[in-house]
Amino acid sequence: MTDGFDKTKVGSDKATAEPDKPGINTRLLHSGMEFDPRTGAVSVPVYQVSTFKQEALGRHHGYEYSRTGNPTRQALEELIAALEGGRRGLAFASGMAAISSVLMLFDAGDHLIVSDDVYGGTFRVLDKVFRRFGVDVTFADLSRAEELPGALTARTRAVFVETPTNPLMRVTDLRAVSAFCKGHGLLHVVDNTFMTPYLQRPLELGADLVIHSATKYLGGHSDVVAGLVVVASQELGDRLHFIQNAVGAILGPMDSWLVMRGVKTLGVRMDRQQANAQAITEWLKGRPEVKKVYYPGLPEHPGHALAKKQAAGFGAMVSFELASASLAEHLLNNVRLITLAESLGAVESLICLPARMTHASIPPEKRAARGISDALVRLSAGIEDVKDLIADLARALGTRPE
Ligand SMILES: *Cc1c(COP(=O)(O)O)cnc(C)c1O
Repeated sequence: MTDGFDKTKVGSDKATAEPDKPGINTRLLHSGMEFDPRTGAVSVPVYQVSTFKQEALGRHHGYEYSRTGNPTRQALEELIAALEGGRRGLAFASGMAAISSVLMLFDAGDHLIVSDDVYGGTFRVLDKVFRRFGVDVTFADLSRAEELPGALTARTRAVFVETPTNPLMRVTDLRAVSAFCKGHGLLHVVDNTFMTPYLQRPLELGADLVIHSATKYLGGHSDVVAGLVVVASQELGDRLHFIQNAVGAILGPMDSWLVMRGVKTLGVRMDRQQANAQAITEWLKGRPEVKKVYYPGLPEHPGHALAKKQAAGFGAMVSFELASASLAEHLLNNVRLITLAESLGAVESLICLPARMTHASIPPEKRAARGISDALVRLSAGIEDVKDLIADLARALGTRPE
C-alpha cells in the first residue's frame, strides 16, 4: 500500500524507544510522507481520484480504488500513526464515523464500559444505534478507577475512555484503566480529541486504540469535519481497515489534506490556546457570578496531579458554572468576539451551552445526574489576544439587565 512514498519517517513507534527521537514540534512537520516522491512537492498533493489504472490484471501501484486506499488519505493516516506512536492510522469522514467504525469491531451480546460524561454524539450512537444491534453499554465515572470492577460483566469486551471528559473535565487514569483491561482481556479505547498527541499519547500509556475528532484541534481552523483512529497492533489495524473498506465511511482527499495542513501548526496553536485558557480560568475564578470553574490546570481540580503525570499540558477547554441558567443564556447571547457555536479546538474562541447544544441528546434527568446543568458554559480558548477575550466575557456578563 505504501509503494511510491518516501519512507523517511521520524517519530514512528520504533522511534519511541530512541533517546535521540526528535521533539514533538519537529515530528508534527516531519512524520509520515514528507515529500511527493514523483515531484518533490513539499505539501502532499491532493489525489482527487476515485480509481487507479492497473498495468495488467492484478498488477498495480498499490492503489486500486479510493475507498480501499487513497495516497492523500494514506499520508494523513501515516502521519497520525507516527504521532500517536501506533502501528496503523485510519481516516474517516467524521469523528462519529471513526467511533462508529470502531464500535463495529463488536458483536451482538458484547458489553462495553464507557465514560459517563462522554461526548454527546458517542452517547447517542451507543444508546440509539448500537443498542439496537445488541451491543450493551454501562456508563461509569471512570475518573474513579474503583468503579471499573463493578461495571464488569462476563460479556464485557472493552473500556471506552474520554479524558479529560467533555464538558466536566474529569481526568481518568489511563495507566490504571490499561492495567485493568490487560487483566481482563478487554480492549482499551481512548477518545483523545481534547488533548491530541501533542499533549497526551494514550498508546504509550497502554491503550490499544485511539480515536480523534480531527474536526477539532488537529484540523484546528473550523474548515473540515474528519475522524481518525490509531491502533497499537497489526491485527487491530487489519480488522479496522476491513471495516473501513467494507462500510466505507472514509475521509476524502481534500479533507485529508486540510487535516494535514492543520497538524503542521498544532504545537504553536495548542501552546497559545492553553496559555489563553489558563488566563481566562484565573479571571473567571475572581468573578462573583461564577460558581465553579472546571479546568484540570487548577491546583484544586481533583484530576490536577494525574493530568500532570499522564499529559504534557492541561488543554484549552474550560467549563464554568454560572449563578443561573438565565445568566448563562445572557452571556451566550451577548458575546461578540467569542463565537457562539458547537465544536471546539479551533483558532477562534468558541462558546456553548452543553445542556442545550452539544449534550442536548442526553435526556435531561441523565444530564442533571452527571452535573451538566443549564448554567454550565463551555469555552474553547482560541489564539486571539487574551485581553480581548476577557474583555468580551466581562462586557457580556456586565451588560446583564437586572
Ligand atoms: C466532536 C467530538 C466527536 C465527534 O466528532 P465529529 O467530527 O463531530 O463527528 C467525538 N468525540 C469528541 C470528544 C468530540 O469532541
